[in-house]
Amino acid sequence: MLKLFIPSMYVPSIYQINFEQLKQKSINSIIIDLDNTLVESSQMHVPPQLRNWLKALQENQFKITIVSNNSKDRVSQFARSLDIPYIYAARKPLAIAFHKAMRIMESELNQTVVVGDQLLTDVLGGNRLGIYTILVVPVSEHEGWMTRVNRKLERMIFWWLRRRGYLKWGERR
Ligand SMILES: [Mg+2]
Repeated sequence: MLKLFIPSMYVPSIYQINFEQLKQKSINSIIIDLDNTLVESSQMHVPPQLRNWLKALQENQFKITIVSNNSKDRVSQFARSLDIPYIYAARKPLAIAFHKAMRIMESELNQTVVVGDQLLTDVLGGNRLGIYTILVVPVSEHEGWMTRVNRKLERMIFWWLRRRGYLKWGERR
């Protein structure tokens, strides 16, 4: 059970994701969280670094879909400014939105990666489907109330994982 919370990979930010490494695993489709993964929670501004990253990703023949538990307004406005597909009110960790995203990208489970900053939504959701998961450090400490609740549980899970020696990457914060 606890193992469902262990990400396949852990990086400080999306900008440290190694595209070549993913390609070697035949991964070509990215399901990505929005808040605190791409930008700070509720930030509307798209940093130039993010635009460049998305461009590089597309040049490397990766597809990407934003899958967020946040509202239609928040997610659609942000994703439209980047011109990438999106799913809002996704109810991660439930599987439905992940399946929908894979249909959009025409990808199979083993060609897909889930990238996000939360164990209880992104990592758990991806792992339950057997999808490769990448955990990133949250962009900022600013988060909504639901996420703050999840963080409390997350801290407990991190504690258990560390105690059992599953955490190889050290302290997260
Ligand atoms: Mg998030």
